[in-house]
Amino acid sequence: MSTIEKNLHRVGEQISAAALLCGRSPQEITLLAVSKTKPVTAIEQAMAAGQWAFGENYVQEGVEKIQYFCQQALAHDLSWHFIGPLQSNKSRLVAENFSWLHTLDRPQLAQRLNSQRPAGLGPLNVLIQINISGEASKAGILPDQLPALAALVAELPHLNLRGLMAIPAPQHCYEAQLAVFAEMTGLFTQLREQYPSADTLSMGMSDDMPAAIAAGSTLVRIGTAIFGARDYAASTD
Ligand SMILES: *Cc1c(COP(=O)(O)O)cnc(C)c1O
Repeated sequence: MSTIEKNLHRVGEQISAAALLCGRSPQEITLLAVSKTKPVTAIEQAMAAGQWAFGENYVQEGVEKIQYFCQQALAHDLSWHFIGPLQSNKSRLVAENFSWLHTLDRPQLAQRLNSQRPAGLGPLNVLIQINISGEASKAGILPDQLPALAALVAELPHLNLRGLMAIPAPQHCYEAQLAVFAEMTGLFTQLREQYPSADTLSMGMSDDMPAAIAAGSTLVRIGTAIFGARDYAASTD
């Protein structure tokens, strides 16, 4: 068994344990394997272990991997999520290649993606990123901007409003993590009442996954715990 396969099994067990501990079904939680900076061989090992959803942060790197796998028979089973900050001048590459975007944070970007999404691909699945810790330096909108942006996305035919995403500031303990994630769950619950298509709450990374699951996450984004530490030297946009 490869290290990546072992890691995937372990993360899967951790997801199940965290879910069962709070009375949730492990099936409610999707594991997104964050493969940024990692080579296609690492992704192939993850695929061999049954992993099918992958997250990328850098447009060029992500598109190269998607195009590599496009030429392979299993490609249509893969799901590619763009989870990094997205500059407007790169939106077309995301619209044409990815099936999900986790970091929608402004109306103009929504409009661009909607007009750039090829009709043959079906709508781009979109999560609105919330700056839940209210950090000046962080991407995402503040909670009071959510109703307007959600209403816009819901009107755009080539986008599908699937939910919310957050990257909270690091907290010093489990209880503090849980409190921040619970605020996200509150926003998500409200959103769902108005937009039934919103079924995805993307939160939880290698260091805060159990708290995210306890708070109601439906998708955890895990990189290091699957692929090992990253070397950023080769990655730029
Ligand atoms: C890199 C990254 C992850 C994965 O982080 P790990 O700590 O390696 O699990 C998750 N989400 C986003 C948005 C990221 O950029």
